[in-house]
Amino acid sequence: MPKKILVVEDEPGIRLSLSDELESAGYQVFTAENGEKALAVAGREKPDLIILDLMLPILDGYEVCKKLRMRGDRTPIIMLTVKDKEIDKVLGLELGADDYMTKPFSLRELVARVKAVFRRTEEKPSNLDVYSFGGIDLDFKKFEASKKGKKLELTPLEFHMLKLFVERSGQVLTRDDFLDGIWGEDNVAVSFRTVDSHIANIRKKIEDDPSRPRHILSIRGVGYKFVE
Ligand code: CA
Repeated sequence: MPKKILVVEDEPGIRLSLSDELESAGYQVFTAENGEKALAVAGREKPDLIILDLMLPILDGYEVCKKLRMRGDRTPIIMLTVKDKEIDKVLGLELGADDYMTKPFSLRELVARVKAVFRRTEEKPSNLDVYSFGGIDLDFKKFEASKKGKKLELTPLEFHMLKLFVERSGQVLTRDDFLDGIWGEDNVAVSFRTVDSHIANIRKKIEDDPSRPRHILSIRGVGYKFVE
């Protein structure tokens, strides 16, 4: 069964070239030209991945993302944006997008990102299925997390990053370690800033005081370190 991808884009030219490229890469592609339709198609076709343009008629990408997560849909999302400065918002707390790409991008780059997302979601389960520290319970298998019994909304990507932290607890991890470990060989277009944005979001969710983190520490000039 080919993987299903939903492409949400209001510009017909981009929509067509994206679906052509993804189809020739072997994926089954569905399309939607506005946010409302995107929600309907996502519910009906249960895609494995959504490529979601930010600026859309009727409901924009932010709203679509929020509504999907609100109804418990955890499908990985790659958000398409025009401005680099929107990154932090796109990867933001309430949204739950997994990755983003800034227009214009090459189709080859997009396919590489798509493959990276699928590789992450297909990783074989390791021995580390559950982990608890400081009132936080993580279930890496079910992608469920809670803090002092209250549910935490972590994206699949954030789970993978936390798992890397936990597996290498007490060690310093560089941004390159994250690029290699999370985005793999297709990390050419991923910037250090993306790693930093995701880590900032994880801190907001797990730390009592994200400005003075106790678990995910910054190691100046090197990277990050996880401590229990
Ligand atoms: Ca658009």
